[in-house]
Amino acid sequence: SALVSANEALANGRVVELFEAHRLAEAPWELSLHARIDEGLRNGDIWLAFQPQWRFRDQRIYGAEALIRWNHPTRGPISPDAFILQAERAGRIDALTYWVLEEAITAALIVNAMGERFQMSVNLSAQMVDKADLVARFTEIVTRRGFEPSLLTIEITETSSVRNRPAACHNLTLLRGMGFRLSIDDFGTGEASLTYLADLPSDELKLDRRFVSRIVSNPRERAIVSNTIMLAHALGQEVVAEGIEDAATFGLLHELGCDSGQGYYLGRPQPFASFRTVYEESLQKRRSQ
Ligand code: C2E
Ligand code: MG
Ligand code: MG
Ligand code: MG
Repeated sequence: SALVSANEALANGRVVELFEAHRLAEAPWELSLHARIDEGLRNGDIWLAFQPQWRFRDQRIYGAEALIRWNHPTRGPISPDAFILQAERAGRIDALTYWVLEEAITAALIVNAMGERFQMSVNLSAQMVDKADLVARFTEIVTRRGFEPSLLTIEITETSSVRNRPAACHNLTLLRGMGFRLSIDDFGTGEASLTYLADLPSDELKLDRRFVSRIVSNPRERAIVSNTIMLAHALGQEVVAEGIEDAATFGLLHELGCDSGQGYYLGRPQPFASFRTVYEESLQKRRSQ
């Protein structure tokens, strides 16, 4: 009977699982998100996509950005912007963040073994940046995996919603001191982008695609992007353009002195197996030239 199996589950310490299996299907989405995320991580509905990053200087794919994906069996694909926010509220952002880090490092180790230095980028939620154990966790993971910190770029977005700014600055300074690269994501959209550039330790800034997408048709946006690139270079930052969707934008960014870029024109975010094939082919092409 149900009671006997419930007692058995209790005795075996499976009471939480039993509760979840029974209730998850009907529970309100927000209230059960914690359990749903754990389930998604366990069964592979949550996975990482990799989008190639292209560098103008040596005309090659030099890295990838890891982007989280969730194909929910009944809800379908859920946008990361939405579920990262929900995960923050559900207290599951730590688990997601370190899962992403482990997966991204696994991928980076494979790609690096193909012979050329490869940069892996991961996104760090604003809710994570000021956590007391952030640096210790990152250190533990890269040490255990034997991964060189300078091959990992940490992208930080929406810095305005960081609660404890001094703690965040402290963490970022420590991470950078260990050799991790820091990137200011979605640059140009936050209210205080220029303040971040002055205050936060960083190695690169990523031009938001809302600017990038209009530089061909709009001279004002072009002037902003062009001068932002010069400003960033004067401050010792590299510049990555996101959201490059066509050849004209790609060519113009090269002309304006942008260091690198990503976007559908250069490659979509894709499962690791297909990313690896794309990267392998790009290596072979370069070696045969
Ligand atoms: P983001 O870091 O600014 O990532 C760039 C977004 O632009 C990605 O959306 C990517 O799929 C999309 N994109 C790339 N190229 C193009 C293009 O040519 N055209 C257009 N229209 N879009 C392009 P995505 O994957 O939906 O991710 C949205 C945001 O969710 C990310 O913005 C990032 O802030 C967040 N995110 C994604 N994965 C993670 C993660 O593992 N952890 C955290 N904390 N946040 C994540
Ligand atoms: Mg990003
Ligand atoms: Mg971005
Ligand atoms: Mg974004």
